[in-house]
Amino acid sequence: MTHDELLAKLDDYGFGVPPLNALRAVVELHKPNWMKRCEACYEIVSPCDFINELYPCPTIQTIEKELK
Ligand SMILES: [Zn+2]
Repeated sequence: MTHDELLAKLDDYGFGVPPLNALRAVVELHKPNWMKRCEACYEIVSPCDFINELYPCPTIQTIEKELK
């Protein structure tokens, strides 16, 4: 699932629901940058670990898993 597809899926569940809006805000934060790394997680990861932090990051993976 791409970042856009994940956002679209959340929107499918309905806008205006506070918990869903909160979840959507988290997903928006965790978006892939031009290097295909998570923008939110990249900065706190050491340069040696970057391979493990390719998008989707663990946060997005967890959300995707629950939405399946
Ligand atoms: Zn992330």
